[in-house]
Amino acid sequence: MHTLAIEGGRPVRPDFLVFGRPLIGEDEIDEVVDTLRSGWIGFGPKAIRFEEDFAAYTQAPYALSVNSATAALHLALIAANVGPGDEVITTTLTFCATANVITHVGARPVFVDVDERTQNIDVSQLEHAITPRTKAIIPVHMCGWPCDMDAIGEIAARHGLTVIEDAAHAAETWYRGKKVGSISPFTAFSFYATKNLTTSEGGMLTITREAAHARLKSMRLHGLDKDAWKRYSPGGFLPYETTEPGYKYNMTDLQASLGLHQLARLERNLITRQQIWACYDTAFANLDCVNTPAVHDTADTRHARHLYTLRLRPEALACSRNEFVQALGAENIGTGIHFIPVHLHRWYREHVGTKRGDFPVAEAIGDTTVSLPLSASMDESDVNDVITAVKKVAKRYLAAGTVFTGAEEPQTYKEAA
Ligand SMILES: *Cc1c(COP(=O)(O)O)cnc(C)c1O
Repeated sequence: MHTLAIEGGRPVRPDFLVFGRPLIGEDEIDEVVDTLRSGWIGFGPKAIRFEEDFAAYTQAPYALSVNSATAALHLALIAANVGPGDEVITTTLTFCATANVITHVGARPVFVDVDERTQNIDVSQLEHAITPRTKAIIPVHMCGWPCDMDAIGEIAARHGLTVIEDAAHAAETWYRGKKVGSISPFTAFSFYATKNLTTSEGGMLTITREAAHARLKSMRLHGLDKDAWKRYSPGGFLPYETTEPGYKYNMTDLQASLGLHQLARLERNLITRQQIWACYDTAFANLDCVNTPAVHDTADTRHARHLYTLRLRPEALACSRNEFVQALGAENIGTGIHFIPVHLHRWYREHVGTKRGDFPVAEAIGDTTVSLPLSASMDESDVNDVITAVKKVAKRYLAAGTVFTGAEEPQTYKEAA
């Protein structure tokens, strides 16, 4: 039990705990089968119903279903008229897609460092990054904790910039009494396989302005004129034409079949993850070699609990973060790293000219962060296995002269009442 699996010992659990394993219920399975038998598996009535439900949930005037958050961000940049010669400001502590879409429209990504506590874009540095070429800001609600949207909105308004929120982690997030999705002109959500709400692949763009919605509704399906999907429905062929060369970014009814029921269970799943989160907080509170997440709900602001990230304290551990993660993997615990800062990726180093040292806070996080499994599909023994494995690995790799502070016995995870 005490020899690490990576050194030949017995792993904490016999089977691998997949990071981001979704909770798929019979409702999703029945709905997918119903769609398969219906004769129509493309974009159609179920995707439209999913958009309506999602707009209601996020309190957004409009929601457009698409095939990824990446597509949603790309469409938003097009609607914001961002193009060659323009600059878009974003955080470097994000998935590469957030920055890639800026280059897709021919613009230049301008990175800003993050706040150590929230891991979100450091608003105090935001204004220094603005130039006459800046057109938009893409804040990312890291792990599900909202950015300081009041300050970002105020800066954007003063400089005439469009705010496009990357809410890939933040479907359930509230910010000062407002639902994320209803705050900025554009908000992009991801329904990727590991996200809180999944359609295997998929995304949603919520939009507050009618004209932008009308244009993007067409742009996400080849730029065809209105309701082009109806060409296959009763009533027969309707003439349609391209009004603008658009993209093939639509969702399908097969994906929406998952989304409809994932959305209906979203709040219940959040409660489960809140309980797992609290259990991790308790279990790791007195483990000196790691730090637990530093942000907590307030009366009007809610964390979506997408990622539970530990920060390893390098001075207290005699291993690298990657060794720590590999040791957890050998114990059959899947983990994630969120994120390697984008400015350190090769293409950005070579084409944007960024380098190590540019954004020290994001780099320190990127070097020491470990995301633990946090999914409503986990049961009590899964949670206890994660805690046992983290403590086992931490104890083995304690730096010389450091005292192990975490009790070795796992805390007991309390199942929802
Ligand atoms: C997952 C993710 C994306 C991309 O989402 P897709 O739906 O896979 O395109 C974008 N931004 C962040 C922060 C993400 O975590």
